[in-house]
Amino acid sequence: MTTCSIREHLLPEAAIGTARRLLSVHFGPPDAARKVYIQAGLHADEAPGYLVAARLLELLGRADAAGEIRERIVVVPVANPIGLGQWTTDSVQGRFDNSDHINFNRRYYDMLEELTERLQDRLGQDAGENVALIRKCAGEILVAKEPTTEAETLKHTLLTLSHDADVVLDLHCDHQALLHVYMGTALWPAGADLSVQMGAGATLLANDSGDMPFDEANSKLWWDLAKNFPEAAIPSACLAATVELRGVADTGLEYTEQDAGNLYFFLQRRGFIAGEAPPLPNLTAEATPLEGVDYITATCAGILTYLKQPGDLVQKGEAVALVTQPMNNPGKGEKQPIISRTSGVFFARSADRFARPGKIIGKVAGVEPLEGKGPYLLTF
Ligand SMILES: [Zn+2]
Repeated sequence: MTTCSIREHLLPEAAIGTARRLLSVHFGPPDAARKVYIQAGLHADEAPGYLVAARLLELLGRADAAGEIRERIVVVPVANPIGLGQWTTDSVQGRFDNSDHINFNRRYYDMLEELTERLQDRLGQDAGENVALIRKCAGEILVAKEPTTEAETLKHTLLTLSHDADVVLDLHCDHQALLHVYMGTALWPAGADLSVQMGAGATLLANDSGDMPFDEANSKLWWDLAKNFPEAAIPSACLAATVELRGVADTGLEYTEQDAGNLYFFLQRRGFIAGEAPPLPNLTAEATPLEGVDYITATCAGILTYLKQPGDLVQKGEAVALVTQPMNNPGKGEKQPIISRTSGVFFARSADRFARPGKIIGKVAGVEPLEGKGPYLLTF
């Protein structure tokens, strides 16, 4: 007997006649102890994740038919139908909600304060019991919330589906990039098998990226609670990670097959699915702090010529791109270099070739934290 079931989650009608819905696909014995949650398309304009989630669902369906799903697996193959509806001049603009301009992957509800209140004098030395109690309380807090807007309801629904999972994977992509991963500092190296299996060219670690992205809404509360209750045994019980599946146009069959296959092997190795995953490859890229990422920024308007490809190693002070300013001394051929402030792997760059002051045109994963980063470590 198969275990797969599909649930529908309706979002409130934001404009007359536009009610949208989410689907969550559930596998595994409902009473299984552990749970993994995977979603794609939270930034709705990032295509590769949809393909990888769709292929993974095929693989899971096959495993389910063979009775091989051991734990609970939940997949939301399209996490943001609001963003998908935001077409502007022939392209989807799915990163920010058009109604309030808030990034769909920011400002998830931070349950820390409410949890801390509810958990007073209730936690002990048994980590398993503590995890179960914390998840129960988190579930109660979420049930009591009454989101109003369409986007708030979307975020609340996604967090409700994910908050009690042991593993949460949020599938995104960058503009042009290596496959890379974001996760909590406390989750490394325990979560290194994810980065290694996915073949990540960089893994960026932070305990608090700022502005509460989806992955941290699931993971950060564990180390925050451990800080608030130092006497209690509170593990980092949720391996939540944002997996950036290269660039927006990296939708080839080979990538889809490779990434879905690697997610499957990761789940197999972690015991969510029966069968033996192949030996874990060697770690090729040590994790680095998110605070060490140089968001290389243009300082003038012009046209970009990249000197570096994603995957190139760059040195501090080295130029990664040139900016041509066609109206500045025409005929002189002057170009402005854009310089990296750190040494490391150049793991992402812009997909278009236009620069303006303040625009991030590339990202370098440096080993040392950079000065003056402030509390917001992610891009807009
Ligand atoms: Zn994204």
